[in-house]
Amino acid sequence: MIQSLSNTCTACGADEVSDFVSERSVPFIGFDRQRGAVRVAVRGCKCGACGFAWHTPEQLEAVTEPVVVAMGSAAPSAIRAARERRSWSQRDLSRVTGMPEPRIARIEGCQAIPTLAEDEALRRALELGDRGSAAAST
Ligand SMILES: [Zn+2]
Repeated sequence: MIQSLSNTCTACGADEVSDFVSERSVPFIGFDRQRGAVRVAVRGCKCGACGFAWHTPEQLEAVTEPVVVAMGSAAPSAIRAARERRSWSQRDLSRVTGMPEPRIARIEGCQAIPTLAEDEALRRALELGDRGSAAAST
C-alpha cells in the first residue's frame, strides 16, 4: 500500500508520512430498510510531525466498496471491469442504461451508492447476475 501514499503531509508539508489501518464497523441502511453493518479495514495516512491524518481517494474507495456490496449492489470495481471488458466508455454505458454519465462515474468511483433501479439497470447492461448472487467477475 506504500505506493498509494502521498509522501508529504497535506497540512504541514513534512515528509514523515506513515500509513495506518484501523478496523471499523460501518453502519448502513439497506434497500429493504434493514439496518446493517459491515466491518471494514480503513486505511489512512498520518503525519509524524503534526499528527494530521487523512485518507487518499483510493483509501476511501476501499472503504465504500464493501459497504455497497453489503447493501446488495454490484461492486463498483466489478461494474468498471465489466464495462472495460466490453470496451465501453461511461458514455456508452449511459446510453445503454439510460442513466446520466456523471452518475455512472460517481457510482464507479464509490462516490455514490446506486439506487435499487440503478443497480438493476447496471447488472442487466453488464450481465453481472442477479442481486444477491456473487459478483460475476474478479
Ligand atoms: Zn503534518
